[in-house]
Amino acid sequence: MGNALMGYAGNYLSINLSTLTGSSGSIDRDLARNYIGGTGIAARLLYDGQKAGLDPLSPESMVIIATGPLTLNSIPGGGSVELCFKSPHTGAWSEARAGSDFGPDLRRAGFDYLVIQGKAPRPVYAYISDGRVEFRPAEHLAGKLVSEKMELIRKEIPKGNSSIACIGPAGEHGVTYASVMFGDRAAGRTGAGTVLGSKNLLAIVVQGTGEVPIGRPEALKGLLKGYFNELRTNPVAIGFHDYGTIGDLGANDEKGDWPTRNWQSNSWGKGAELLDRFMKHNFIKPYPCYRGCTISCGRKVRVSEGQYATPEHGGAEYESISCFTAYVLNENMDAAVHATYLCNQYGIDSISAGASIAFLLECAEAGLLQDFDTGGLDLSWGNAEILPVLVRMIANREGIGALLADGVKKAAERIGRGSEKFAIHVKGLEGPAHDPRSGKSLAVSYGTGNRGMCHIHPVEAMAWDAGKMDWGLCRYGLPDPYEVDRWAESGKGAAVALMQNGLNLPEILGTCKFFMYAGVGVDKLAAMLSCVTDHDVSAEELLEVSERVINLQRLFNVREGFSKADDMLPERVCAVPAFGKYAHEPACGISDFPAMLQEYYEARGWDPVTGIPSDATLARLGLKK
Ligand code: SF4
Repeated sequence: MGNALMGYAGNYLSINLSTLTGSSGSIDRDLARNYIGGTGIAARLLYDGQKAGLDPLSPESMVIIATGPLTLNSIPGGGSVELCFKSPHTGAWSEARAGSDFGPDLRRAGFDYLVIQGKAPRPVYAYISDGRVEFRPAEHLAGKLVSEKMELIRKEIPKGNSSIACIGPAGEHGVTYASVMFGDRAAGRTGAGTVLGSKNLLAIVVQGTGEVPIGRPEALKGLLKGYFNELRTNPVAIGFHDYGTIGDLGANDEKGDWPTRNWQSNSWGKGAELLDRFMKHNFIKPYPCYRGCTISCGRKVRVSEGQYATPEHGGAEYESISCFTAYVLNENMDAAVHATYLCNQYGIDSISAGASIAFLLECAEAGLLQDFDTGGLDLSWGNAEILPVLVRMIANREGIGALLADGVKKAAERIGRGSEKFAIHVKGLEGPAHDPRSGKSLAVSYGTGNRGMCHIHPVEAMAWDAGKMDWGLCRYGLPDPYEVDRWAESGKGAAVALMQNGLNLPEILGTCKFFMYAGVGVDKLAAMLSCVTDHDVSAEELLEVSERVINLQRLFNVREGFSKADDMLPERVCAVPAFGKYAHEPACGISDFPAMLQEYYEARGWDPVTGIPSDATLARLGLKK
């Protein structure tokens, strides 16, 4: 292998859509050492390569599609890919992950990451195979649903293993939270599909026959044998396999971790019943999002008959279904499955879509929509019939859908009349389906997440506080969750900083974080990375890389004008629930969020007044502003 960089394909591909050209270069060794891959490398490239204040929908904006050295089909969770960009939805740092074979296939095609810039003169798709890229006309794909686009593309490419990423009509119509779809899996949040749509890039195909060089293949094989043996009996892995993410509906409702009626409550009392209905009528079988996933948390589902009839597809994730049930008080599971299917077909983020609809219903109830044509729709809580209608209207920017197509923050600015108190978001990103009134460290996570009110980073704060998980981080300073009161506020800020460092690692290394939940913790990640790269790295070093990446993403946001004020939570998220199981539990409300934030800033080494990383912290991490 000579000088080969072990664990990396070794090259990146720069795509200029304005000139329809591509050029490749070698991965910089220092970049790989200090930022490893995935969202780490992407943070450095975006910070250095994109000027502050740039319109994310301008041709100059960058989208980086990145893998990590553990993005390999043989690694637990190694079917992963990250899209990083400045969000057109929030204006902040953004990343969106999808599980699929796209990441491993990209590396087999010879590239660890893609840098995409420019704007094609007409719709195109990129076909990347074994070290080269070609741009193919895509006018015939324009306006088609995601599955239709994929079917047409499949007919035009050589047989054999390949992966397709594509946008739906929502990305072509500029819905600011348009997703990029990888089969049935979505890189959903914050508008990666919007940015690709603005560049006239409708799809990317990767196909390759190469191999990534592994530093210590035999040692890696030995490690993996042991890890996969353990996974076979791990209760979290078994739970994910048997019930998928949607299996949490009942338990989360019970513990107050289920935002209901646009966050007026954190429980509804119908989660278990809805799950039961789903298992009996909609669930078909588990499926893996990439070749090799032993957990297979995906669900093949359908609605076999009736007005919401829906063909078999991979879907019905916990977050999506929650946003189309509890958020809007819909008790019809068929309608929820159908609406989330439509979100994927049209290529819009199901969380922001469901949250925007919940916001609309509350505005209608409060009589704030006089200035808007609601098309005669009955915007009542629990009306299942309007859900698919509104999803289509959002995706096509039709009627009242156009108001929701930019998310709740901008919709509230247009509606006025005090509607901003119904707009539940942080940094412009709508809240997902976990509630910090079940465990308060999640409040700090939501406030300080670099991409906003995020269902990935670091929603695990809830899993530590209320779910008593630790991912092997206790030996690196995380307090034992069994000794923590979920409703206490003191101590949570410091714990969140450590959890963010730990649970950010899968995005940097290129794996699925559910495997961390299933026992593949930070020590095992370090051991695998050492074997793959032939360079010994400790868990402490990995945690420091993650800290560096989080700080650099924070600097990106600071440069874009975000400040401490943008770390604050909506009032309603801190309030004692208006109804439900916890309405008479004042301790579950968040009483002093600024103090929690202060503790977090101190743990991070950030200025307590501005929330900006201090010079000493940046120097310690080898960062410069
Ligand atoms: S656990 Fe689920 S999300 Fe993670 S890689 Fe497997 S199927 Fe994909």
